[in-house]
Amino acid sequence: MANFLTKQPYSPPSWATHLSPIPSHTFSLAHLPTPIHRWNLPGLPDGTELWIKRDDFTGMELSGNKVRKLEFILADAIDQQADTIITIGGVQSNHCRATAVASNYLNLDTHLILRTTKLLVEEDPGLVGNLLVERFVGANVHLISKEEFSSIGSEALTNTLKEKLEKEGRKPYVVPRGGSNALGTWGYIEAAREIEEQLKTRTDGLQFDDIVVACGSGGTIAGISLGSWLGTLKAKVHAFSVSNDPEYFYDVFQGILDGLQAGVNCRDIVNIHNGQGKGYAVSTPEELKFVKDVACATGVILDPLYSGKAAYGLINEMTKDPKNWEGKKILFIHTGGLLGLYDKVDQMGSLVGSWCRMDVQESVPRKDGVGKMF
Ligand SMILES: *Cc1c(COP(=O)(O)O)cnc(C)c1O
Repeated sequence: MANFLTKQPYSPPSWATHLSPIPSHTFSLAHLPTPIHRWNLPGLPDGTELWIKRDDFTGMELSGNKVRKLEFILADAIDQQADTIITIGGVQSNHCRATAVASNYLNLDTHLILRTTKLLVEEDPGLVGNLLVERFVGANVHLISKEEFSSIGSEALTNTLKEKLEKEGRKPYVVPRGGSNALGTWGYIEAAREIEEQLKTRTDGLQFDDIVVACGSGGTIAGISLGSWLGTLKAKVHAFSVSNDPEYFYDVFQGILDGLQAGVNCRDIVNIHNGQGKGYAVSTPEELKFVKDVACATGVILDPLYSGKAAYGLINEMTKDPKNWEGKKILFIHTGGLLGLYDKVDQMGSLVGSWCRMDVQESVPRKDGVGKMF
């Protein structure tokens, strides 16, 4: 962490030097490397060894997978002498929250375009979860409806705001949805190198057969699959799509790979499973109970939108076809998102543990010597 919050020249792993564009700099924002540990998820097939990489530990306000992408994207924003960052996402977007916080570290203003329902678009969006952090750090929040978002599209929306701010004399820089462009993808190419280094320092010869990760805008799987394929990991990557069909993501993913001139077919390097359930940001009682049970059994808190759906999808696939997973060593990447849980408290109430009024009816004699307050 010696370089925390400094801009550094970047050189790619030796196996990625043929990719293009190669970022010239990176801006250190994440707490790296994140730990990898055994994770005894309930319901694993016999002999399946599951491990978890804690990218929910990349920071506090900056936690999750987006900060790895922002290290490259915001270094570029500084190179271009931007004074304002614009990005776009759902109303509880972890990406928008991480961008707002990172921009503040860099002394840049932030404008967030947040997608909400037609019913709520004219109202104060409140202070729940990611919104609390975004508004606390002073991000400018612009609400749009889902209908506007799908008819106009994120590119035209961010461009409209960019032109407006330019007319006001600002120098805005647009970070695409989820930070999933070629530059942002380098965040998870680097994560693959980080995992390689972590495995090298072990004495038990641990190697992973499979890597499992949630997929929302595609940049994370693009980086980790490319890194695993090109480097020494050679693990098969399984993505669980939470916001669209696998077919849609194969296209998005191929576009990202082509944008890096990778010259590979996405279907050779990633297996995309449908993890949407009832749809993006919609949690079924079963999914929430799973997230709760995993927290009780292992202490790891998944988020309901991404990592929770991916782990739920993984366990379901394992239950359907245990032979496929028996004896495998699997690395699950926890991509963060804890703040999103706050948006689900109404649904979680019936799942959490009981409480009681402490029984102090029979007066307990006070122990002396510790002061009146305690
Ligand atoms: C954005 C996000 C993802 C998905 O990552 P993409 O690169 O957008 O596919 C997964 N988990 C969490 C918690 C996220 O916020």
